[in-house]
Amino acid sequence: MSTENGPRAADRGVALTFDDGPSSYTNQVLDILKRERIRATFFVVGENIDERRADLRREIGEGNLVGNHTFTHIDTAGGGSEVAKQLTETSALIKRETDFTPCLFRPPGGTKTPQSTALINRRGLKSIGWDVDTQDYTQPGSDSIVQTVLRDARPGSIVLMHDGGGPREQTVAALPRTSHCRAAPEGVPLRHPRQAARRWRTLCVDLRLRLRDKA
Ligand SMILES: [Zn+2]
Repeated sequence: MSTENGPRAADRGVALTFDDGPSSYTNQVLDILKRERIRATFFVVGENIDERRADLRREIGEGNLVGNHTFTHIDTAGGGSEVAKQLTETSALIKRETDFTPCLFRPPGGTKTPQSTALINRRGLKSIGWDVDTQDYTQPGSDSIVQTVLRDARPGSIVLMHDGGGPREQTVAALPRTSHCRAAPEGVPLRHPRQAARRWRTLCVDLRLRLRDKA
């Protein structure tokens, strides 16, 4: 799918994103990110938070971004009151645990529709897609995950991976090799630069100010 709202163009780094956590794999992912000095964005599922509060706090505490991925991984395409409730509930949970109000959203399954976009925007969230799909959830082998990133990542790319939702040993095994490789075919730094996180944060502040001005 296309990436309409990512750091593309203005930011030339590669952004790593992890969906469907926090889970028992999240700490391993965070260990690698910390060791490699990479920041990433975690799109968390609200119902996972209660059991994994420390992991969520660690994500934020170590300089990563956290985004909303609904409460039960519900399909948001049709909009409606249940989707609205889940968006609000998940953002509130993240805020309660970390004091961080998420400004990014990733639709489960990646489908964007006018109905869902209206709900998302009204909550001050910005929908973030991806352009590099590692398909790590299909367990294609860690070599395949690494190769997909090295082959497809371009300046400004957003890479989709998962730290929850199923067995993620392959993702964990692939991650150090992905991040060690400093140069993709076009010499892209395969590190999620601090600037990318900062830019997304700035983008969200801008969005909130704009929404506030409108109100
Ligand atoms: Zn998901």
